Amino acid sequence: MDIARTPSIADGNPQMADAPPVPAQPPLIRRADYKPFPWLVPEIRLHFDLGIETTRVVSTLKVAPNPDAAADDVIRLNGDGLQVSSVKLDGLPVKNWEMDGPDLVLPLSAGEHEVEIVTEVSPEKNSQLMGLYASNGMLCTQCEAEGFRRITFFPDRPDILSTYLVKMEGPVAQFPVLLSNGNKVSAGESAGGRHWAEWHDPWPKPSYLFALVAGDLVARTDSFTTMSGREVDLAVWVRAEDLPRTEHAMDSLKKSMKWDEEAFGREYDLDVFNIVAVSDFNMGAMENKGLNVFNTKYVLADPDTATDGDYDAIEGVIGHEYFHNWSGNRVTCRDWFQLSLKEGFTVLRDQLFSQDMQGEAVKRIEDVRVLRAVQFPEDSGPLAHPIRPDSFREISNFYTATVYNKGAEVLRMMRTMAGPVAFRQGTDLYFERHDGEAATCEDFVKAMEDGAGLDLRQFRLWYSQAGTPKVEVSLTHKGDTATLALKQTVPPTPDRIAKKPMPIPLRLALFDRDSGSHDGEQLVILSEAEKTIAFEGFARSPVLSINRGFSAPVSIEREVSTEDLVFLAAHDDDPFARYEAMQDLVVAHLVAVCSDSLTGAAQEAGRKAIAGALRKVLTDDRLDDSMRGELMMLPGQTYLAEQFLVADPGRIHAEREALKVALGVALESELIALHERASTLPATLDHASRGARKVKAQALVYLAAGNPDVAAKMAAAQYDAAQTMTDRQGALMVLTGLPGVARTDRLIDFYNRYRGNELVVDKWFALQASSLHPDAIEHVKALANHPDFNLRNPNRVRSLYMAFAGNPHAFHAASGEGYRMIADLILALDPINPQTAARFVPPLGRWRRIEPQRAALMRAELERIAATDGLSRDTYEQVTRSLG
Ligand SMILES: [Zn+2]
Repeated sequence: MDIARTPSIADGNPQMADAPPVPAQPPLIRRADYKPFPWLVPEIRLHFDLGIETTRVVSTLKVAPNPDAAADDVIRLNGDGLQVSSVKLDGLPVKNWEMDGPDLVLPLSAGEHEVEIVTEVSPEKNSQLMGLYASNGMLCTQCEAEGFRRITFFPDRPDILSTYLVKMEGPVAQFPVLLSNGNKVSAGESAGGRHWAEWHDPWPKPSYLFALVAGDLVARTDSFTTMSGREVDLAVWVRAEDLPRTEHAMDSLKKSMKWDEEAFGREYDLDVFNIVAVSDFNMGAMENKGLNVFNTKYVLADPDTATDGDYDAIEGVIGHEYFHNWSGNRVTCRDWFQLSLKEGFTVLRDQLFSQDMQGEAVKRIEDVRVLRAVQFPEDSGPLAHPIRPDSFREISNFYTATVYNKGAEVLRMMRTMAGPVAFRQGTDLYFERHDGEAATCEDFVKAMEDGAGLDLRQFRLWYSQAGTPKVEVSLTHKGDTATLALKQTVPPTPDRIAKKPMPIPLRLALFDRDSGSHDGEQLVILSEAEKTIAFEGFARSPVLSINRGFSAPVSIEREVSTEDLVFLAAHDDDPFARYEAMQDLVVAHLVAVCSDSLTGAAQEAGRKAIAGALRKVLTDDRLDDSMRGELMMLPGQTYLAEQFLVADPGRIHAEREALKVALGVALESELIALHERASTLPATLDHASRGARKVKAQALVYLAAGNPDVAAKMAAAQYDAAQTMTDRQGALMVLTGLPGVARTDRLIDFYNRYRGNELVVDKWFALQASSLHPDAIEHVKALANHPDFNLRNPNRVRSLYMAFAGNPHAFHAASGEGYRMIADLILALDPINPQTAARFVPPLGRWRRIEPQRAALMRAELERIAATDGLSRDTYEQVTRSLG
């Protein structure tokens, strides 16, 4: 599954946007309590009599005692809000079952049995979008993590693997297309304008990978020949009007299939692969075997309606879900505590794929920026957890940046230590050993030790210790020796205070100041709490470049001169390190300014140094624009706030804006020249044109701060002439923050131009909610009453409120009004869609790291939510942990 990614709108900084009432204290589920289930279910047959109002489900399970588990004389089948119509055991009706809470418990003697259960569900009433639900007249499913139990009674846990035979029947006119997992085995007409189709998935799978889609859809079709010569029919299913916008999705699918064969030796294993786009979806997309269901946001694209970032995100998410066919489906998870086994691994795989498609340097920078903006705050807050959590109340709350993005970083460290060739030997061994099994993180680590030849005994701590490690770095110089001193600490988190040192692989290089070059990069593994390393042959003190390529997900703390950072920003041959030097330069300056530790003259000198470094970036002919755009981006507000034990978001925002003003004024002519030069490139999708569009947007951001009148004219002209959504959105982003008639005119134009296109109207909401306009709060209030706003559509909710929660000046308004709006949203959304509601808790949960006045206001809102009766398990858990 993919959590909804929201590449940045405002200011180029990314923000990741995506049951009946439960008693006060839902139970805590612990990893240590895992026990294998007493029964196996090798086969399941499902019969669906489809209807939007009511769907009847007949489920027939073949069950047998599990030889690896203690025997039991009952079978517990999980349900969630289900009513039983009938139960049969071995063909005969039985009445000796009972309900235990939401679950059905049936006495069962030893030996094999057939259990048949009939239930009825109401897709149109399913606003949680978990299980079987209706979206725009079609029926679809979402079962990860625990949605299957909302369709029928079943041991709904990932270690129960079954083959599925699925028959669907319904009116032809309403549901002309009937899809499920695996291969279609038969289909036919039945009386009264009805038809049916039967699908068989030969690969045993857990229930969370089950999927069904029924509706009036059309497909873009294509084919792919696998490396062993299997012909696979490919289809991307959408509503008829969306068909022209599916070409990029299909291209991305074919590239993903080819890449996984080449990079990981993984081949597709069914005759068909279907993708379906759905407009009401909680997450980004879902890897159901052979039938991936996607949020429309990650399928539909053309240059007029999708930005370059949207194109990249579609390619990345299509790759991600496809790669799950092996990392997740063929080898699945034993229990949900192992979620990172499939997600961390698959995120790494999709990152490596995107690096190969889009360019390594920029992709690495983007991935680290997301990690710092979303995962670092999670790791230092009340919701911190290891990549393999020890307990949960609601698993939906653990589809986090920690499990996904930090999980990927942990595997990437193994790859850095082993090298790509040995790492591949490790993954080959993992797939070979565990194909067809439900595995654990430990199984992966063991395969990596045996296959890649790594000793990972101490490294396993990365799976159990939460918190972003800090590495203190100092470099001293005497005679011809440079001495590097390293010291690591893993900060305390709510689950654990005392932590052990972990192996931290640091790629580093020592630059000669005169030649601007170095004698080769080294890999140092810091396994101890402290370590010193001597480097000889340096007559002058070298310039240290460390954690190159972001080789470890840690924060580096070091005393470094402005002069050295300026040197690295200009000379470092590792693109990430060069970006990092620019970031460090700005971070160090803004932290000092916000701490009131700089004199006026020192502040002025700091701004001058930054302006000088940025001028080099703007005018360096050797840089390509795509990389230039990265180097131009200021560190994001959340990453800056992370630098303080207790942050003042108002002050950070004000100082960051003040720096933008100073840079916009100092570099006005260079920025205008860059914008003019970049505007001459054609509106095509090639690398150079995409880079040009990126620097145009960044140039406008600085100009809007330094000279708003000039910027407004340039942005309005760019908007009017735009031939791509990237240019149009980039211009409108800047205009939306500038009061004036150009803003109003273009916002009205944008809405009228794209009215009815839901994904673009989402952008229209998000642009206003994340804008720098002083009245952004009022705008959001008005937009909440707009006829196009709809609490039942997760994309629309995120486009307005997740964008708002990431807008520092509005969300953190000193009055507390922003906090109140998010709390009101959570309370309104919780009864409709608890999973999406709970995702809005973390922004409020940051209160401990915020200055006291705002912290009190945030806490009061959390307490108001906590005091509300009938909260969902999702929201209850997030709020109580945040207050805890
Ligand atoms: Zn996933």
